[in-house]
Amino acid sequence: MRPKRKIRTLSDVQNNPIEHSTLEVDVKAVCENWHRLDKASGAAETAAVVKADAYGLGADPIVPALCEYGVKTFFVANVFEGVQIREATKPFPERKIFVLNGFDLCAAPQFAKHNLIPVLNTIQEIQTFLAQTEIDSESPVAVQMDTGMNRLGLSRKEISELSQSKGSLERLNIILWMSHLACAEDPDHPLNKRQLDRFNSSLEKLPPAPASLANSAGIHLGSEYHFDVVRPGIALYGGSPSPGNRMQPVVRFAGKILQLRDVDEGETVGYGAEFRAERTSKIATVGAGYADGILRSLGNTSSLMIGSYAVPIVGRVSMDVLALDVTDLPPSYLREGDHVPLIDTQNLIDDVAKQADTISYEILTRLGARSKRIYTGR
Ligand SMILES: *Cc1c(COP(=O)(O)O)cnc(C)c1O
Repeated sequence: MRPKRKIRTLSDVQNNPIEHSTLEVDVKAVCENWHRLDKASGAAETAAVVKADAYGLGADPIVPALCEYGVKTFFVANVFEGVQIREATKPFPERKIFVLNGFDLCAAPQFAKHNLIPVLNTIQEIQTFLAQTEIDSESPVAVQMDTGMNRLGLSRKEISELSQSKGSLERLNIILWMSHLACAEDPDHPLNKRQLDRFNSSLEKLPPAPASLANSAGIHLGSEYHFDVVRPGIALYGGSPSPGNRMQPVVRFAGKILQLRDVDEGETVGYGAEFRAERTSKIATVGAGYADGILRSLGNTSSLMIGSYAVPIVGRVSMDVLALDVTDLPPSYLREGDHVPLIDTQNLIDDVAKQADTISYEILTRLGARSKRIYTGR
């Protein structure tokens, strides 16, 4: 009789034994995370940031679910993403879609056709928008102001300029003033308060319209950061927005054990021979590498949890495979063909990111380009 296996393999994976790696996305968990953020945001409207294909997880299955859950406003980075989200929100044509990275004359037909709202980031973009003829001049726009991140948005000088240029202001249908926080995940960072003060003082000079400042982490800085619309992204997808604010995990990523091999003491594993076995070892070669989004920086320095065992990643992560040292696991605990979790509730995206010396955002947006994708909870 086969020994009883304790690891929980992905149920669907068992039915897809050909796949070397599997990305499972819990769509319901995304919706429930949105709901939790919505409650934390008080009276403010909670939008959803779905840029980069919903942080790499798949906007097409996620956005319709969010629409049905009550999300009314989406943010994307560019016009192409805007077109995709408009398609995904088709049964809900009144959903607002803001395009964060500015307005370009060449893209005006797309903005018009798909009813996308540009976030105007410079005086020049405002002029261009007012001069173009593709989009109805009554169409809504957002204007972003810089409050200290110095990345996108009008400078304070330009805001003063704009506040005096009544002509431009009267011709624009501004439905959102926005800015973006640079350090919200660090609640003690002095820049948070400075950005808040600058945002408030700019708003005072400008005609009234709804305002938006907070990303995921900003929501937890306090109600004075909420304004009228909050813009969470990473927290929807299970990333912890700031210390002490855990979200429901959304992603499970598993790789198939292609081989289990015994390696003699003194032998090395992988490219560059960077791992040397100090004892006779059992090595599991797993079919997931950096082309699947398992970052190369995880090689030889990190470990993951399989059941109650910490299992080191040994040697370099290569394009298609990585190696785990499973010597300390009970014999028969793992078998060839098993799918081992690389990201799950025990190996959270934030923990994996930390070990890879990056952030959960990068883990998610790189994950699973050639993996089988399974969407649950729809
Ligand atoms: C990406 C982005 C967000 C979402 O940020 P999270 O940290 O993922 O919540 C909000 N606003 C702007 C302008 C962004 O670029």
